Amino acid sequence: MDSSDPSQAGPSRQTPAVASAASPESEFNPTFERWRSRFAEVTGLGLSEAQKAERTQREEQAKLERDWARCQKWKEELMTRSPMVVFMLKHLRLSGCPFPDSAIQCHPCPEDRAGGFAPEYGILLCQNRFFSKKHMEDTLAHELIHAYDHCKFNVDWLNLRHHACTEIRAANLSGDCSWTREVKRGFYAFNKQHQACVKRRAVASVMANPSCKSEEMAEKVVNEVWESCLNDTRPFDEIY
Ligand SMILES: [Zn+2]
Repeated sequence: MDSSDPSQAGPSRQTPAVASAASPESEFNPTFERWRSRFAEVTGLGLSEAQKAERTQREEQAKLERDWARCQKWKEELMTRSPMVVFMLKHLRLSGCPFPDSAIQCHPCPEDRAGGFAPEYGILLCQNRFFSKKHMEDTLAHELIHAYDHCKFNVDWLNLRHHACTEIRAANLSGDCSWTREVKRGFYAFNKQHQACVKRRAVASVMANPSCKSEEMAEKVVNEVWESCLNDTRPFDEIY
C-alpha cells in the first residue's frame, strides 16, 4: 500500500488554500505550493520535463520494488510448499548439489524470457515476467531440472546434444507443457500435443545457444536425442 505523507494529505483538503491560489501572494504560500506540487505530481499537469522524467523514474522504481517483493514472496512460498519445487530441491540435495535460497534470484529481465540457469550463478527468476504464481512455479521447476542435470550428468552447455537433452527434459517434466502432478504416482500420460509442445520449446531454447547456427540445426539435434531424453524422467521415476 502507498503511504501518503500526512503533511501533504492535509492541505489538499483545505479549499481555502486553493481559493487563495489566484491571489498574487500565493507564490509565497508554502501550504499552497505543497498542494500544487502534490497535485501536479498526481495529474502530471504543470510539471516541467525534468519533473516528468523524475516522476517516471520514481514510478519505475516503485514497480521494480513491487515486482521484486512479489517474486521474493512467491519464491519463498514455492520453495517450502510446492510439491514439485520441494521435490527437485530434495533431489538436488541428495545428488550432492544443495540449492540454497540465495542461488535463486529475482531480477528484472529486459528480454522476453521468464527465467534462466547458469552453472556459476544459479537460477534467475524474471520478476517482471510472471503472469501468475503457477507460471513462476513451472519456470522454477524447469530451471531446477537444468540444475539437476548439470549436477548429475555434467552437462556441457556448448554441446548442442547435451543442451537439447536437458531442454527436452525440462519442458517435459516441469509443467511447461501442462504436465500434471500425477507424476507422484508414477503415472505418465503423454499425448501428442504434449510432445509437440515439448519439441517446439526445446527447439526454441537450443536455437538460443551460441553454438547453434539455424532452426534446422536445432530441430535436427532435438530429433537425434528425442527418444532417449523424453523417456528419461529422472528423478521422478526413482523411489523416494
Ligand atoms: Zn531451459
